[in-house]
Amino acid sequence: MNNGKTTLRIFIQLSLLICVYTLPGRLLADISRPIPYCVDPDWMPYEAIRDGRHVGISSDYLELISDMSGLIFTLVATSSWNESLEKLRSGECEATPLLNRTPLRSTFLNFSNVYFESPNVLVSTKDEPFLQSVEHIGNRNVAVPEGYRLAEYIKVNHPEVNLKLVKNELDGLLAVSRGEIDLFVGSMLTVNSRIYSRNLNNLKIAGWAGPEDKLRFGVIHKRVELLPKINSAIAKVTEQQRQDIFKRWNNIRIIQESNYKLVLQVVSCALVILLILYFRNRSVEKFNLKLTRKNRELDNLRKKLEESNKKLEYLSIHDPLTNLYNRNYLNQEFVKDMRRKSSSGLCLILIDIDYFKKINDEFGHHQGDKVLKQFSNTLINSVRDSDVVTRWGGEEFIIICNHSKVDEAYHLCERIQQSIEQQDFSPVERITASFGIAEIKQNESINQGFERADAALYIAKDKGRNLIISA
Ligand code: GH3
Ligand code: MG
Ligand code: MG
Repeated sequence: MNNGKTTLRIFIQLSLLICVYTLPGRLLADISRPIPYCVDPDWMPYEAIRDGRHVGISSDYLELISDMSGLIFTLVATSSWNESLEKLRSGECEATPLLNRTPLRSTFLNFSNVYFESPNVLVSTKDEPFLQSVEHIGNRNVAVPEGYRLAEYIKVNHPEVNLKLVKNELDGLLAVSRGEIDLFVGSMLTVNSRIYSRNLNNLKIAGWAGPEDKLRFGVIHKRVELLPKINSAIAKVTEQQRQDIFKRWNNIRIIQESNYKLVLQVVSCALVILLILYFRNRSVEKFNLKLTRKNRELDNLRKKLEESNKKLEYLSIHDPLTNLYNRNYLNQEFVKDMRRKSSSGLCLILIDIDYFKKINDEFGHHQGDKVLKQFSNTLINSVRDSDVVTRWGGEEFIIICNHSKVDEAYHLCERIQQSIEQQDFSPVERITASFGIAEIKQNESINQGFERADAALYIAKDKGRNLIISA
Protein backbone atom coordinates (compact mmCIF):
# COMPACT_ATOMS: atom_id res chain seq x y z
CA MET A 1 0.00 0.00 0.00
CA ASN A 2 2.79 2.35 1.07
CA ASN A 3 4.72 1.30 -1.97
CA GLY A 4 1.74 2.12 -4.14
CA LYS A 5 1.34 5.59 -2.53
CA THR A 6 5.03 6.24 -2.87
CA THR A 7 4.92 5.24 -6.54
CA LEU A 8 1.96 7.59 -7.13
CA ARG A 9 3.71 10.46 -5.30
CA ILE A 10 6.86 9.89 -7.33
CA PHE A 11 4.78 9.82 -10.55
CA ILE A 12 2.97 13.05 -9.62
CA GLN A 13 6.25 14.74 -8.65
CA LEU A 14 7.88 13.60 -11.88
CA SER A 15 4.91 14.82 -13.91
CA LEU A 16 5.03 18.17 -12.13
CA LEU A 17 8.76 18.37 -12.76
CA ILE A 18 8.24 17.60 -16.44
CA CYS A 19 5.50 20.27 -16.62
CA VAL A 20 7.61 22.89 -14.79
CA TYR A 21 10.53 22.31 -17.10
CA THR A 22 8.77 21.82 -20.42
CA LEU A 23 5.75 24.25 -20.38
CA PRO A 24 7.69 27.57 -20.35
CA GLY A 25 9.92 26.13 -23.05
CA ARG A 26 6.88 25.33 -25.15
CA LEU A 27 5.36 28.72 -24.48
CA LEU A 28 8.66 30.41 -25.32
CA ALA A 29 8.96 28.35 -28.45
CA ASP A 30 5.39 29.36 -29.43
CA ILE A 31 6.05 33.07 -28.93
CA SER A 32 9.41 33.14 -30.71
CA ARG A 33 8.30 31.21 -33.80
CA PRO A 34 7.18 33.38 -36.73
CA ILE A 35 3.47 34.18 -36.57
CA PRO A 36 1.68 33.62 -39.89
CA TYR A 37 -0.56 36.60 -40.64
CA CYS A 38 -3.04 37.66 -43.34
CA VAL A 39 -4.01 41.05 -44.64
CA ASP A 40 -6.53 42.52 -47.07
CA PRO A 41 -4.55 42.24 -50.34
CA ASP A 42 -6.27 45.27 -51.87
CA TRP A 43 -7.14 47.93 -49.30
CA MET A 44 -4.75 50.78 -49.90
CA PRO A 45 -3.63 52.90 -48.19
CA TYR A 46 -4.43 50.71 -45.14
CA GLU A 47 -2.84 47.56 -46.45
CA ALA A 48 -2.27 45.55 -49.59
CA ILE A 49 -0.02 42.94 -51.12
CA ARG A 50 2.14 44.31 -53.89
CA ASP A 51 4.68 42.02 -55.61
CA GLY A 52 4.22 39.54 -52.74
CA ARG A 53 5.06 42.20 -50.14
CA HIS A 54 2.83 43.60 -47.44
CA VAL A 55 2.56 47.40 -47.88
CA GLY A 56 0.46 50.24 -46.46
CA ILE A 57 -0.26 51.74 -43.05
CA SER A 58 -0.59 48.37 -41.31
CA SER A 59 2.80 47.19 -42.65
CA ASP A 60 4.50 50.15 -40.94
CA TYR A 61 2.64 49.51 -37.68
CA LEU A 62 3.46 45.79 -37.89
CA GLU A 63 7.14 46.62 -38.24
CA LEU A 64 7.00 48.90 -35.16
CA ILE A 65 5.07 46.30 -33.15
CA SER A 66 7.54 43.63 -34.21
CA ASP A 67 10.54 45.80 -33.19
CA MET A 68 9.05 46.68 -29.82
CA SER A 69 7.63 43.25 -28.92
CA GLY A 70 10.21 40.97 -30.46
CA LEU A 71 7.41 39.09 -32.22
CA ILE A 72 8.15 37.89 -35.71
CA PHE A 73 5.43 37.87 -38.36
CA THR A 74 5.33 36.10 -41.73
CA LEU A 75 2.89 37.05 -44.42
CA VAL A 76 0.53 34.47 -45.81
CA ALA A 77 -0.41 35.93 -49.19
CA THR A 78 -4.09 35.83 -50.19
CA SER A 79 -5.99 37.18 -53.15
CA SER A 80 -9.01 38.63 -51.32
CA TRP A 81 -10.09 39.82 -47.89
CA ASN A 82 -12.61 37.01 -47.74
CA GLU A 83 -9.81 34.48 -48.31
CA SER A 84 -7.83 36.15 -45.52
CA LEU A 85 -10.83 35.87 -43.19
CA GLU A 86 -11.18 32.19 -44.11
CA LYS A 87 -7.54 31.52 -43.32
CA LEU A 88 -7.95 33.30 -39.98
CA ARG A 89 -11.03 31.25 -39.25
CA SER A 90 -9.20 28.02 -40.08
CA GLY A 91 -6.10 29.01 -38.11
CA GLU A 92 -3.80 28.97 -41.12
CA CYS A 93 -3.30 32.64 -40.37
CA GLU A 94 -2.95 33.54 -36.72
CA ALA A 95 -3.10 37.30 -36.89
CA THR A 96 -4.18 40.23 -39.00
CA PRO A 97 -2.79 43.70 -38.32
CA LEU A 98 -5.65 46.08 -39.10
CA LEU A 99 -9.38 45.46 -38.90
CA ASN A 100 -12.58 46.55 -37.21
CA ARG A 101 -14.06 44.50 -34.41
CA THR A 102 -17.44 43.00 -35.23
CA PRO A 103 -19.54 40.43 -33.40
CA LEU A 104 -18.99 37.93 -36.23
CA ARG A 105 -15.22 38.37 -36.25
CA SER A 106 -15.17 38.12 -32.46
CA THR A 107 -16.24 34.47 -32.80
CA PHE A 108 -12.76 33.54 -34.08
CA LEU A 109 -10.59 36.59 -33.25
CA ASN A 110 -9.45 38.52 -30.22
CA PHE A 111 -8.70 42.21 -30.72
CA SER A 112 -6.03 44.58 -29.52
CA ASN A 113 -6.68 48.14 -28.46
CA VAL A 114 -7.69 50.56 -31.22
CA TYR A 115 -4.60 52.12 -32.82
CA PHE A 116 -5.97 53.69 -36.00
CA GLU A 117 -9.24 55.54 -36.57
CA SER A 118 -10.68 56.73 -39.84
CA PRO A 119 -14.11 57.93 -40.97
CA ASN A 120 -16.28 56.11 -43.49
CA VAL A 121 -17.93 58.02 -46.29
CA LEU A 122 -20.81 57.73 -48.72
CA VAL A 123 -19.80 58.10 -52.36
CA SER A 124 -22.19 59.12 -55.13
CA THR A 125 -22.02 60.67 -58.56
CA LYS A 126 -21.64 64.44 -58.57
CA ASP A 127 -25.23 65.11 -59.62
CA GLU A 128 -26.59 63.44 -56.46
CA PRO A 129 -27.38 65.60 -53.39
CA PHE A 130 -25.16 65.61 -50.29
CA LEU A 131 -26.36 63.24 -47.52
CA GLN A 132 -25.89 63.87 -43.82
CA SER A 133 -25.63 60.24 -42.74
CA VAL A 134 -26.71 56.65 -43.45
CA GLU A 135 -30.18 57.56 -42.09
CA HIS A 136 -30.70 59.82 -45.12
CA ILE A 137 -29.99 57.14 -47.71
CA GLY A 138 -33.75 56.54 -48.17
CA ASN A 139 -34.60 54.07 -50.93
CA ARG A 140 -31.23 54.40 -52.67
CA ASN A 141 -29.24 51.20 -53.10
CA VAL A 142 -25.82 51.01 -51.46
CA ALA A 143 -22.76 49.00 -52.46
CA VAL A 144 -20.48 47.50 -49.79
CA PRO A 145 -17.67 44.96 -50.33
CA GLU A 146 -18.64 41.54 -48.98
CA GLY A 147 -16.91 40.55 -45.77
CA TYR A 148 -16.48 44.21 -44.80
CA ARG A 149 -17.53 45.30 -41.36
CA LEU A 150 -19.77 48.01 -42.86
CA ALA A 151 -21.90 45.38 -44.61
CA GLU A 152 -22.44 43.66 -41.27
CA TYR A 153 -23.09 47.01 -39.54
CA ILE A 154 -25.66 48.26 -42.09
CA LYS A 155 -27.47 44.87 -42.17
CA VAL A 156 -27.89 44.97 -38.41
CA ASN A 157 -28.47 48.67 -37.78
CA HIS A 158 -30.18 49.78 -41.01
CA PRO A 159 -32.07 46.74 -42.32
CA GLU A 160 -34.23 49.09 -44.44
CA VAL A 161 -31.22 50.01 -46.63
CA ASN A 162 -31.13 48.26 -49.98
CA LEU A 163 -27.66 46.71 -49.67
CA LYS A 164 -25.71 45.41 -52.70
CA LEU A 165 -22.68 43.32 -51.88
CA VAL A 166 -19.80 43.81 -54.30
CA LYS A 167 -16.56 41.87 -54.69
CA ASN A 168 -14.31 44.71 -53.60
CA GLU A 169 -14.18 48.50 -53.19
CA LEU A 170 -13.15 49.17 -56.76
CA ASP A 171 -16.09 47.21 -58.17
CA GLY A 172 -18.43 49.20 -55.92
CA LEU A 173 -16.99 52.56 -56.96
CA LEU A 174 -17.09 51.59 -60.65
CA ALA A 175 -20.73 50.52 -60.31
CA VAL A 176 -21.62 53.92 -58.79
CA SER A 177 -19.58 55.74 -61.45
CA ARG A 178 -21.46 53.85 -64.19
CA GLY A 179 -24.81 54.70 -62.52
CA GLU A 180 -25.64 51.04 -61.78
CA ILE A 181 -25.73 51.65 -58.00
CA ASP A 182 -26.64 54.90 -56.20
CA LEU A 183 -24.11 54.91 -53.37
CA PHE A 184 -20.95 53.25 -52.13
CA VAL A 185 -19.88 53.09 -48.49
CA GLY A 186 -16.20 52.85 -47.68
CA SER A 187 -13.29 54.21 -45.78
CA MET A 188 -12.43 57.77 -46.69
CA LEU A 189 -8.74 57.01 -47.18
CA THR A 190 -9.28 54.17 -49.62
CA VAL A 191 -12.15 55.85 -51.43
CA ASN A 192 -10.03 58.91 -52.15
CA SER A 193 -7.08 56.82 -53.15
CA ARG A 194 -9.16 54.84 -55.67
CA ILE A 195 -11.10 57.79 -57.07
CA TYR A 196 -7.83 59.52 -57.90
CA SER A 197 -5.89 56.49 -59.05
CA ARG A 198 -8.77 55.45 -61.35
CA ASN A 199 -9.74 58.98 -62.44
CA LEU A 200 -13.35 58.43 -61.43
CA ASN A 201 -13.99 62.13 -61.87
CA ASN A 202 -17.78 61.89 -61.83
CA LEU A 203 -17.74 60.70 -58.21
CA LYS A 204 -17.88 62.78 -55.04
CA ILE A 205 -17.98 62.18 -51.30
CA ALA A 206 -21.67 62.68 -50.63
CA GLY A 207 -21.59 62.41 -46.83
CA TRP A 208 -20.28 60.72 -43.70
CA ALA A 209 -21.27 57.13 -42.98
CA GLY A 210 -20.92 56.24 -39.31
CA PRO A 211 -19.54 54.57 -37.39
CA GLU A 212 -15.88 55.41 -37.82
CA ASP A 213 -13.42 52.64 -38.53
CA LYS A 214 -11.74 51.77 -35.21
CA LEU A 215 -8.96 49.57 -36.39
CA ARG A 216 -7.18 47.03 -34.25
CA PHE A 217 -4.81 44.10 -34.39
CA GLY A 218 -6.61 40.75 -34.46
CA VAL A 219 -5.27 37.38 -33.29
CA ILE A 220 -7.03 34.06 -33.41
CA HIS A 221 -8.34 32.73 -30.07
CA LYS A 222 -5.54 30.15 -29.87
CA ARG A 223 -2.94 32.91 -29.85
CA VAL A 224 -4.67 35.24 -27.40
CA GLU A 225 -1.46 35.28 -25.33
CA LEU A 226 0.08 37.52 -28.01
CA LEU A 227 -2.28 40.43 -27.22
CA PRO A 228 -0.56 41.85 -24.08
CA LYS A 229 2.72 42.12 -25.99
CA ILE A 230 0.97 43.65 -28.97
CA ASN A 231 -1.00 46.13 -26.82
CA SER A 232 2.09 47.16 -24.95
CA ALA A 233 3.93 47.72 -28.25
CA ILE A 234 0.98 49.75 -29.62
CA ALA A 235 1.06 51.92 -26.48
CA LYS A 236 4.70 52.70 -27.11
CA VAL A 237 4.15 54.05 -30.63
CA THR A 238 4.83 57.79 -30.38
CA GLU A 239 2.66 60.53 -31.83
CA GLN A 240 5.48 61.44 -34.20
CA GLN A 241 5.65 57.86 -35.49
CA ARG A 242 1.87 57.84 -35.98
CA GLN A 243 2.00 61.10 -37.94
CA ASP A 244 4.91 59.90 -40.07
CA ILE A 245 3.01 56.73 -41.02
CA PHE A 246 -0.14 58.68 -41.78
CA LYS A 247 1.73 61.19 -43.93
CA ARG A 248 3.57 58.45 -45.80
CA TRP A 249 0.43 56.65 -46.89
CA ASN A 250 -2.30 59.25 -46.82
CA ASN A 251 -3.09 60.63 -50.23
CA ILE A 252 -6.35 62.28 -49.30
CA ARG A 253 -7.37 65.19 -51.37
CA ILE A 254 -10.72 66.71 -50.67
CA ILE A 255 -12.60 66.13 -53.88
CA GLN A 256 -14.68 69.26 -53.71
CA GLU A 257 -11.69 71.40 -52.84
CA SER A 258 -9.76 69.87 -55.70
CA ASN A 259 -12.67 70.66 -57.99
CA TYR A 260 -12.64 74.24 -56.76
CA LYS A 261 -8.94 74.27 -57.55
CA LEU A 262 -9.75 73.02 -61.02
CA VAL A 263 -12.54 75.58 -61.36
CA LEU A 264 -10.14 78.25 -60.09
CA GLN A 265 -7.55 77.14 -62.63
CA VAL A 266 -10.10 77.15 -65.43
CA VAL A 267 -11.49 80.53 -64.34
CA SER A 268 -7.95 81.93 -64.01
CA CYS A 269 -7.07 80.65 -67.47
CA ALA A 270 -10.31 82.08 -68.86
CA LEU A 271 -9.60 85.40 -67.15
CA VAL A 272 -6.08 85.50 -68.53
CA ILE A 273 -7.40 84.70 -72.01
CA LEU A 274 -10.14 87.34 -71.63
CA LEU A 275 -7.59 89.89 -70.44
CA ILE A 276 -5.30 89.08 -73.35
CA LEU A 277 -8.25 89.37 -75.76
CA TYR A 278 -9.38 92.60 -74.08
CA PHE A 279 -5.94 94.21 -74.31
CA ARG A 280 -5.44 92.84 -77.79
CA ASN A 281 -8.81 94.29 -78.84
CA ARG A 282 -7.96 97.56 -77.19
CA SER A 283 -4.63 97.76 -78.95
CA VAL A 284 -6.30 96.70 -82.22
CA GLU A 285 -8.95 99.39 -81.66
CA LYS A 286 -6.25 101.93 -80.87
CA PHE A 287 -4.32 100.83 -83.89
CA ASN A 288 -7.48 101.06 -86.02
CA LEU A 289 -8.21 104.51 -84.65
CA LYS A 290 -4.65 105.56 -85.43
CA LEU A 291 -4.96 104.01 -88.85
CA THR A 292 -8.27 105.80 -89.49
CA ARG A 293 -6.72 109.08 -88.35
CA LYS A 294 -3.68 108.50 -90.54
CA ASN A 295 -5.91 107.55 -93.45
CA ARG A 296 -7.94 110.71 -92.93
CA GLU A 297 -4.73 112.74 -92.79
CA LEU A 298 -3.51 110.95 -95.88
CA ASP A 299 -6.83 111.63 -97.57
CA ASN A 300 -6.58 115.31 -96.67
CA LEU A 301 -3.01 115.39 -97.92
CA ARG A 302 -4.09 113.65 -101.10
CA LYS A 303 -6.89 116.21 -101.56
CA LYS A 304 -4.44 119.06 -100.87
CA LEU A 305 -2.01 117.49 -103.29
CA GLU A 306 -4.75 117.16 -105.88
CA GLU A 307 -5.71 120.80 -105.30
CA SER A 308 -2.05 121.82 -105.47
CA ASN A 309 -1.64 119.76 -108.61
CA LYS A 310 -4.72 121.38 -110.10
CA LYS A 311 -3.38 124.79 -109.09
CA LEU A 312 0.01 123.91 -110.51
CA GLU A 313 -1.62 122.57 -113.64
CA TYR A 314 -3.71 125.74 -113.86
CA LEU A 315 -0.70 127.94 -113.19
CA SER A 316 1.40 126.03 -115.70
CA ILE A 317 -0.99 126.95 -118.51
CA HIS A 318 -2.49 130.24 -117.24
CA ASP A 319 -1.25 133.76 -116.80
CA PRO A 320 -1.70 134.76 -113.14
CA LEU A 321 -2.47 138.44 -113.88
CA THR A 322 -5.15 138.09 -116.56
CA ASN A 323 -6.14 134.44 -116.05
CA LEU A 324 -5.80 133.95 -119.79
CA TYR A 325 -4.01 130.92 -121.16
CA ASN A 326 -0.23 131.49 -121.35
CA ARG A 327 2.42 130.66 -123.91
CA ASN A 328 2.79 127.07 -122.51
CA TYR A 329 -0.83 126.30 -123.21
CA LEU A 330 -0.55 127.84 -126.64
CA ASN A 331 2.29 125.48 -127.52
CA GLN A 332 0.10 122.52 -126.53
CA GLU A 333 -2.90 123.93 -128.44
CA PHE A 334 -0.79 124.44 -131.53
CA VAL A 335 -0.01 120.76 -131.62
CA LYS A 336 -3.70 119.81 -131.29
CA ASP A 337 -4.91 122.41 -133.78
CA MET A 338 -2.41 121.31 -136.31
CA ARG A 339 -4.47 118.12 -136.47
CA ARG A 340 -7.84 119.92 -136.54
CA LYS A 341 -6.98 122.54 -139.13
CA SER A 342 -6.84 120.06 -141.98
CA SER A 343 -10.67 120.02 -142.19
CA SER A 344 -11.37 123.75 -141.78
CA GLY A 345 -9.48 127.04 -141.50
CA LEU A 346 -7.30 128.19 -138.62
CA CYS A 347 -6.38 131.84 -138.09
CA LEU A 348 -3.77 133.40 -135.80
CA ILE A 349 -4.32 136.93 -134.55
CA LEU A 350 -1.40 138.72 -132.84
CA ILE A 351 -2.47 141.76 -130.81
CA ASP A 352 -0.16 144.37 -129.22
CA ILE A 353 -1.38 147.30 -127.13
CA ASP A 354 -0.09 150.56 -128.54
CA TYR A 355 2.30 152.70 -126.52
CA PHE A 356 1.76 150.67 -123.41
CA LYS A 357 5.07 151.72 -121.93
CA LYS A 358 3.75 155.24 -121.75
CA ILE A 359 0.81 154.09 -119.61
CA ASN A 360 3.17 152.50 -117.13
CA ASP A 361 5.34 155.54 -117.17
CA GLU A 362 2.49 158.00 -116.71
CA PHE A 363 0.15 156.11 -114.38
CA GLY A 364 2.38 153.54 -112.78
CA HIS A 365 2.80 149.77 -113.17
CA HIS A 366 -0.27 148.98 -111.07
CA GLN A 367 -2.47 151.04 -113.37
CA GLY A 368 -0.77 149.28 -116.31
CA ASP A 369 -1.84 145.91 -114.78
CA LYS A 370 -5.43 147.09 -114.50
CA VAL A 371 -5.41 148.02 -118.18
CA LEU A 372 -3.99 144.60 -119.05
CA LYS A 373 -6.82 142.87 -117.11
CA GLN A 374 -9.56 145.02 -118.64
CA PHE A 375 -8.07 144.49 -122.10
CA SER A 376 -7.96 140.71 -121.51
CA ASN A 377 -11.64 140.66 -120.47
CA THR A 378 -12.51 142.49 -123.68
CA LEU A 379 -10.74 139.81 -125.69
CA ILE A 380 -12.46 136.96 -123.85
CA ASN A 381 -15.87 138.59 -124.21
CA SER A 382 -15.37 139.13 -127.92
CA VAL A 383 -14.37 135.64 -129.04
CA ARG A 384 -16.42 132.49 -129.67
CA ASP A 385 -16.18 129.47 -127.38
CA SER A 386 -14.09 127.66 -129.96
CA ASP A 387 -11.48 130.45 -130.02
CA VAL A 388 -8.50 130.39 -127.69
CA VAL A 389 -7.18 133.65 -126.18
CA THR A 390 -3.67 133.65 -124.73
CA ARG A 391 -1.32 136.23 -123.27
CA TRP A 392 1.86 135.81 -125.28
CA GLY A 393 3.83 138.03 -122.91
CA GLY A 394 3.85 141.66 -121.68
CA GLU A 395 1.12 143.58 -123.55
CA GLU A 396 0.97 141.07 -126.43
CA PHE A 397 -1.85 138.55 -127.03
CA ILE A 398 -2.65 135.78 -129.52
CA ILE A 399 -6.10 134.55 -130.50
CA ILE A 400 -6.39 131.20 -132.25
CA CYS A 401 -9.56 131.19 -134.25
CA ASN A 402 -10.62 127.64 -135.01
CA HIS A 403 -12.64 126.88 -138.12
CA SER A 404 -12.23 130.52 -139.27
CA LYS A 405 -11.27 132.14 -142.50
CA VAL A 406 -9.29 135.35 -142.53
CA ASP A 407 -12.43 137.46 -143.06
CA GLU A 408 -14.03 136.10 -139.91
CA ALA A 409 -10.82 136.83 -138.00
CA TYR A 410 -10.77 140.32 -139.42
CA HIS A 411 -14.35 140.98 -138.23
CA LEU A 412 -13.39 139.71 -134.78
CA CYS A 413 -10.50 142.20 -134.69
CA GLU A 414 -12.86 145.00 -135.70
CA ARG A 415 -15.29 144.08 -132.90
CA ILE A 416 -12.42 144.10 -130.40
CA GLN A 417 -11.16 147.44 -131.77
CA GLN A 418 -14.60 148.97 -131.37
CA SER A 419 -15.08 147.57 -127.92
CA ILE A 420 -11.76 149.03 -126.73
CA GLU A 421 -12.64 152.31 -128.37
CA GLN A 422 -15.89 152.51 -126.45
CA GLN A 423 -14.48 151.52 -123.09
CA ASP A 424 -13.41 153.71 -120.24
CA PHE A 425 -9.82 152.90 -119.13
CA SER A 426 -9.55 155.99 -116.92
CA PRO A 427 -7.34 157.43 -115.73
CA VAL A 428 -5.89 156.33 -119.06
CA GLU A 429 -7.55 158.46 -121.67
CA ARG A 430 -7.52 156.10 -124.65
CA ILE A 431 -6.32 152.59 -125.44
CA THR A 432 -5.68 151.29 -128.90
CA ALA A 433 -4.12 148.10 -130.18
CA SER A 434 -2.56 146.83 -133.41
CA PHE A 435 -3.61 143.48 -135.00
CA GLY A 436 -1.72 141.10 -137.34
CA ILE A 437 -3.75 138.25 -138.91
CA ALA A 438 -2.52 135.14 -140.70
CA GLU A 439 -4.60 132.17 -141.84
CA ILE A 440 -2.55 128.99 -141.73
CA LYS A 441 -2.17 127.73 -145.27
CA GLN A 442 -2.20 124.16 -146.48
CA ASN A 443 1.19 122.55 -145.86
CA GLU A 444 2.28 125.59 -143.78
CA SER A 445 3.73 125.06 -140.33
CA ILE A 446 2.31 126.90 -137.37
CA ASN A 447 5.60 128.72 -136.92
CA GLN A 448 5.49 129.92 -140.47
CA GLY A 449 1.91 131.15 -139.93
CA PHE A 450 2.99 132.81 -136.70
CA GLU A 451 5.82 134.60 -138.45
CA ARG A 452 3.41 135.94 -141.11
CA ALA A 453 1.01 137.18 -138.38
CA ASP A 454 3.93 138.81 -136.56
CA ALA A 455 5.00 140.44 -139.80
CA ALA A 456 1.44 141.73 -140.32
CA LEU A 457 1.45 143.16 -136.77
CA TYR A 458 4.76 144.83 -137.48
CA ILE A 459 3.21 146.45 -140.55
CA ALA A 460 0.24 147.67 -138.44
CA LYS A 461 2.66 149.25 -135.98
CA ASP A 462 4.71 150.64 -138.69
CA LYS A 463 1.73 152.15 -140.44
CA GLY A 464 0.77 154.14 -137.36
CA ARG A 465 -0.85 151.61 -135.00
CA ASN A 466 -4.57 150.98 -134.17
CA LEU A 467 -4.68 149.04 -137.45
CA ILE A 468 -5.74 145.53 -138.51
CA ILE A 469 -3.42 143.94 -141.07
CA SER A 470 -3.90 140.47 -142.52
CA ALA A 471 -0.98 138.69 -144.07
P1 GH3 B 1 4.45 149.86 -129.14
O1 GH3 B 1 3.29 150.65 -129.45
O2 GH3 B 1 5.53 149.91 -130.11
O3 GH3 B 1 4.06 148.46 -128.83
O4 GH3 B 1 5.10 150.46 -127.84
P2 GH3 B 1 4.98 149.94 -126.42
O5 GH3 B 1 5.38 150.89 -125.45
O6 GH3 B 1 3.61 149.29 -126.19
O7 GH3 B 1 6.01 148.73 -126.46
P3 GH3 B 1 7.27 148.45 -125.64
O8 GH3 B 1 7.75 147.12 -126.06
O9 GH3 B 1 8.24 149.56 -125.85
O10 GH3 B 1 6.82 148.42 -124.17
C1 GH3 B 1 6.07 147.42 -123.61
C2 GH3 B 1 5.95 147.72 -122.19
O11 GH3 B 1 5.05 146.83 -121.52
C3 GH3 B 1 7.24 147.55 -121.47
C4 GH3 B 1 6.93 146.81 -120.16
O12 GH3 B 1 7.33 147.49 -119.04
C5 GH3 B 1 5.44 146.76 -120.15
N1 GH3 B 1 4.97 145.58 -119.56
C6 GH3 B 1 5.24 144.30 -119.93
N2 GH3 B 1 4.60 143.42 -119.11
C7 GH3 B 1 3.88 144.17 -118.20
C8 GH3 B 1 3.05 143.83 -117.13
O13 GH3 B 1 2.78 142.64 -116.81
N3 GH3 B 1 2.46 144.87 -116.44
C9 GH3 B 1 2.74 146.15 -116.72
N4 GH3 B 1 2.15 147.10 -116.01
N5 GH3 B 1 3.52 146.48 -117.73
C10 GH3 B 1 4.13 145.51 -118.47
MG1 MG C 1 5.06 144.83 -127.47
MG1 MG D 1 2.98 147.59 -127.32
